[in-house]
Amino acid sequence: MPDQPRTDHPPHPTEHQVLDPATGEVVATVAATTLEQVDTAVVRATVAQARWAAAAPADRARLLRRFAAVVDAHTEELARLEVSEAGHTIGNARWEAGNVRDLLDYSAGGVERLTGRQIPVAGGLDITLLEPLGVVGVIAPWNFPMPIAAWGTAPALAAGNAVLLKPAETTPLTALRLAELALEAGLPEHLFQVLPGAGPVAGNALVEHPGVAKIVFTGSTRIGKQIMARSAGLVKHVTLELGGKSPNIVFADSDLALAAATAPMAFLDNSGQDCCARTRILVQREVHERFLELLAPAVESVVVGDPSDEKTQMGPLISAVQLERVRSYVPDGAAGIRGSAPDGPGFWFPPTVLTDQDAGAPVATDEVFGPVAVVLPFDDEEDAVRQANATEYGLAGSIWTRDVGRALRVSRAVAAGNLSVNSHSSVRYGTPFGGYKQSGLGRELGPDALAAFTETKNVFISTEA
Ligand code: NAD
Repeated sequence: MPDQPRTDHPPHPTEHQVLDPATGEVVATVAATTLEQVDTAVVRATVAQARWAAAAPADRARLLRRFAAVVDAHTEELARLEVSEAGHTIGNARWEAGNVRDLLDYSAGGVERLTGRQIPVAGGLDITLLEPLGVVGVIAPWNFPMPIAAWGTAPALAAGNAVLLKPAETTPLTALRLAELALEAGLPEHLFQVLPGAGPVAGNALVEHPGVAKIVFTGSTRIGKQIMARSAGLVKHVTLELGGKSPNIVFADSDLALAAATAPMAFLDNSGQDCCARTRILVQREVHERFLELLAPAVESVVVGDPSDEKTQMGPLISAVQLERVRSYVPDGAAGIRGSAPDGPGFWFPPTVLTDQDAGAPVATDEVFGPVAVVLPFDDEEDAVRQANATEYGLAGSIWTRDVGRALRVSRAVAAGNLSVNSHSSVRYGTPFGGYKQSGLGRELGPDALAAFTETKNVFISTEA
């Protein structure tokens, strides 16, 4: 038989087109990073990291604050870029650029407070040193390209590491711009490099590279599991932020009007492409019907359209592939509430709440990652907790009740990393964020964010010698 071409390494594109999700038009073409370029980036980052770690903490903090100031000066530009590559509403995109700035500032404040401990022991002095890991690989998804890139990058830099950031194929533009702004702010060359390209090529190369000490991955649970398995070969540190199927639990004793008014944007924000989206709306049976009456006008009045219009609340999905995936979850003729969406070019799907689905239906169990939710009734507190926890995920959730004791009992009983009572808040740069179960491993953000990018070294100094 003649020699066959090798098929174990299928060719990957040498460049990626970035499409505007609202129009489907090409806004940029970005070259994909090759394996050789990843190797070079690791070598350069290793050199830059050693110098960065040796610099005075106050100088590192000052440079990160300057980076925050430069991001602040470019908020509008970064926000417009996010609108064009990810289809985010302009209001959200401005918040996202502000989140990057605030997180850089917050992390800069940690540089000089990254203290070890002095532990009482016999015969000497025992201290712990928190040392940087070295080079950190951050692999980001397309749904919140800019803030999620920063959640790994800012604390890693603050803790004395270098960062190699691999953005998603579809959304590399804000990441590339952030790397330029870092240089403009005076951060050392090669300390923060962006490597756009294919996940299985540039992303996997970071995972398998012995010169990369940690991977911070945000993305699907499927790829997250692969990354964890591959990192095991080098016993590499990993933080995983994965999928979700979060409950919004509405008790009969809640402010029902407020719960219904806020439920739509709790799953429609970012067109539902949000790992914290409250897509399982669990409603106590005795108010189920009344809740649906209140929910219908709230869903129907959500403004869907041009994301650059200030009045728009929901934009398009990221891509044609995602649109098909979302469509496939909504059975023909399913009963429910539907909002509107533009016709024509772009990747549009209307706000959709399904009201006749079984708790075991794929749309009620899988992460759809689109503007689709289900409403399911429950009987009592125990049943609410049982249904809330009947998922492999555990990222977020909301609890609506006026009973403080119940709010606390249910907060303790729901196995998820980010809960909110009488609100839908999930993410603040100053509070920890991450998932239980298959929603992830480790925490980002919050007061301990820098520590996740350090090794603890224990040193005992004898006083007897
Ligand atoms: P994805 O897993 O397909 O890709 C995420 C990133 O991983 C991309 O940069 C991709 O190029 C890269 N990648 C893909 N294959 C890889 C490989 N073999 N090796 C290394 N890198 C690889 O996810 P996505 O579709 O871009 O993002 C959507 C998913 O992200 C959703 O499931 C969502 O729930 C999840 N998400 C989770 C959080 C969280 O904090 N928990 C936040 C946002 C998004």
